[in-house]
Amino acid sequence: MTNLTQPNNALLYLKTLLVTGVIVICSTSSALAAGEFGPSNPFFAPSTLPFQAPAFDKIKDEDFQPAIEAGMAKQSAEVMAIADNPAAPTFDNTIVALEKSGQLLDRVMAVFSGVTGANTNDTLQKIKTIEAPKLSAHQDSIHLNAKLFARVEAIYKQRAGLKLDAESLRLVERYYDQFVHAGAALSEADKAELRKVNEELSTLSNTFSNKLLAATKDGAFVTKDRASLAGLSDAQIAAAEQAAKSRKVDGYLILLQNTTQQPDLVLLTDRATRQAIFEHSWNRTERGDANDTRDTVVRIAQLRAQKGKLLGYPSFAAWKLEDQMAKTPEAALKFMDAIVPAATEKAAREAKDIQDVIDAEKGGFQLQPWDWTYYAEKVRKARYDLDDAQVKPYFELNCVLENGVFYAATQLYGITFKERHDIPVYHPDVRVFEVFNADGSHLALFYCDYFKRDNKNGGAWMSEFVGQTRLLGTSPVIFNVANLPKPAPGEPALISFTDVVTMFHEFGHALHGMFSDAEYPTLAGTATARDFVEFPSQFNEHWALYPSVFGHYARHYKSGAPMPEELAARIRKAATFNKGYEMTELLAAAELDMQWHFLTPADPLQNPDQFEKQALEKTRLNVGYVPPRYRTTYFSHIWASGYSAGYYAYLWTQMLSDDAYQWFAENGELSRANGDRFRKMVLSRGNTEDLGKMYETWRGAPPNTKAMLKHRGLEAAPAK
Ligand SMILES: [Zn+2]
Repeated sequence: MTNLTQPNNALLYLKTLLVTGVIVICSTSSALAAGEFGPSNPFFAPSTLPFQAPAFDKIKDEDFQPAIEAGMAKQSAEVMAIADNPAAPTFDNTIVALEKSGQLLDRVMAVFSGVTGANTNDTLQKIKTIEAPKLSAHQDSIHLNAKLFARVEAIYKQRAGLKLDAESLRLVERYYDQFVHAGAALSEADKAELRKVNEELSTLSNTFSNKLLAATKDGAFVTKDRASLAGLSDAQIAAAEQAAKSRKVDGYLILLQNTTQQPDLVLLTDRATRQAIFEHSWNRTERGDANDTRDTVVRIAQLRAQKGKLLGYPSFAAWKLEDQMAKTPEAALKFMDAIVPAATEKAAREAKDIQDVIDAEKGGFQLQPWDWTYYAEKVRKARYDLDDAQVKPYFELNCVLENGVFYAATQLYGITFKERHDIPVYHPDVRVFEVFNADGSHLALFYCDYFKRDNKNGGAWMSEFVGQTRLLGTSPVIFNVANLPKPAPGEPALISFTDVVTMFHEFGHALHGMFSDAEYPTLAGTATARDFVEFPSQFNEHWALYPSVFGHYARHYKSGAPMPEELAARIRKAATFNKGYEMTELLAAAELDMQWHFLTPADPLQNPDQFEKQALEKTRLNVGYVPPRYRTTYFSHIWASGYSAGYYAYLWTQMLSDDAYQWFAENGELSRANGDRFRKMVLSRGNTEDLGKMYETWRGAPPNTKAMLKHRGLEAAPAK
């Protein structure tokens, strides 16, 4: 089971690609038969249901593509009209007009992204394959539109004299920064160069992804010796046998997961098997075959260094962090450097505990990375004796939701919930609640879709069908999705504590969306920076263990009896288990990411293994038994998704969430006054103010790592 504060949940939070701030211009949509699009299409006009909720009782698969095509065409026309407007540029005729454009596309894409993520089928996947590159090309092209940029720039330059309110001023600055960030202010020659670099980068990212996919598949561990898989359950061994069969090989096959560590290592008793699987994982992309990614990643790093310089920055990292809360790579590095000693010291203490077990068993070897999870599990069992079967009867899903997740929000923010059965849903498992403010006024609709299905993406996430914005007069329609085990009909859904935390986490995102009180879509709700957006969700996790909340929902599903204190204490104590390892592997990956993006165009092409070794040494993270969570050559987050020079965000938002919870601890803990203040000064504010300033105004000080280290058990060991 995954812990929500970890990076394999990169996609926990998915937002539609189309924020109004990213405008698309395209005149090629007629190239594909757009099909019929008219008033009979349920996306043609805003839904007439409460909160403009999607009319899932009317939406059919074949409605999406014509609506997406029409949405792009309509937005193109809207944006052209803005760029070609003969009138002098004003805030209203340019910036506000851009904010109002693309409503049809937003409407259909919010629903399309929702159902392709949570309830997809072949038809929808096909549409997605066809439309995704078009949508992304649109996004890329807009910011290099010289006419449009000239208007945005003119308004930006006059902004001081325009008497704009603070949020409107922020909007002008965000628009200008986004254009400049994408290269709009470059000379035509530099723009051409940038396009060339971007094009090669996008090809290389794609090459990297394809190689990694193939390498991970090829890297599977195969054995004919059933005994070497001792420790796995019969069902797991049968699955391994089936996996081998489906590839037409003899024996048993263990697939690789994305991360360095592999989940089966916790169970496998045979040390040689553990080592072999680990090495398959570690070397998957460095085998000198067609799937070796070393040449690809060093070229990406080199091109990015060039891109940073073209855009006027000392490094790619400096360019990338400009619009983040941390603002500079130096700030992110300083933050990470300060946690390294605490994390590696805790990892060293954990390693000693593990070595003690190895020695007690007369193992006769030194702890290696492939031994860690296997022996850590033994330590965990000996120390906490926490058995899922024992705790699950106290975590019945509906009780956790209404008496825990909702209850905490009621205590903090005064909001209440009423289930509605009249709002159409995309699957019978989906439940809908209307959310009311303390004064009884309507706040939002909240959908939850918690059970695992074959046609659902893995993990858990939040997104919205309708975003809040005063400009367009819309209220939030938010949904949470997870993959919890579905019980047999008539049986209660009993979940693990990890799953409980997942529900609190995703609901923290939901609150960020529901409390949004912004004028403009670009600045509303969760449309914030990568190193901020996981803050409200991780913050909300804290209430899961808060005594009065825990006592309210952790009740036996049959008797209603509260969880025995002795068991609850074990859950609390186990919360800091293995955190030294987890923090160290995260830090190692985050530092690797940052070091790669500090290269300058003057640096030669690197040798990736040497570079990796030096980068880890330099940052004091060359810890043999804790390898980086991802190695350079299979670090997909940074070479093929949006986390380049951004992996630190996972740790940064941990700091924010723990530091924020510390404020509550210092100011009377859980109370309406504290909740209302947090809602007013942070959760409702989206991206309407500089995020660092917003945080500091609420907290009364900049964030620091003290609470984070304490909460995660990373303080120095008590003197003996
Ligand atoms: Zn999240």
